[in-house]
Amino acid sequence: MAATQQQPNIWAQMEYVPPRGPCSQKTSMVSSCACYRFMIHPLKAATSFDCDGCGHHASFHRMESKEEEEVTRRWKSGGNFERKCAG
Ligand SMILES: [Zn+2]
Ligand SMILES: [Zn+2]
Repeated sequence: MAATQQQPNIWAQMEYVPPRGPCSQKTSMVSSCACYRFMIHPLKAATSFDCDGCGHHASFHRMESKEEEEVTRRWKSGGNFERKCAG
């Protein structure tokens, strides 16, 4: 029997959405985790709730990254690529 190692997506199973933002876990009195993104390796995100970048749990990570938010918002708002310059 060829055992296909099809690992289920734990996030999909739980109906959770994996966070994409930076980690906000405090690592000391003055600084917080330097991890800027949950799951640098996207394939690992399907099988673990712990970040592969910093090892902190997903709940410490923000759902959205500010920068990504900005980009998506620009895409959504029109998608007209600087067509305003009428010659
Ligand atoms: Zn972290
Ligand atoms: Zn992390």
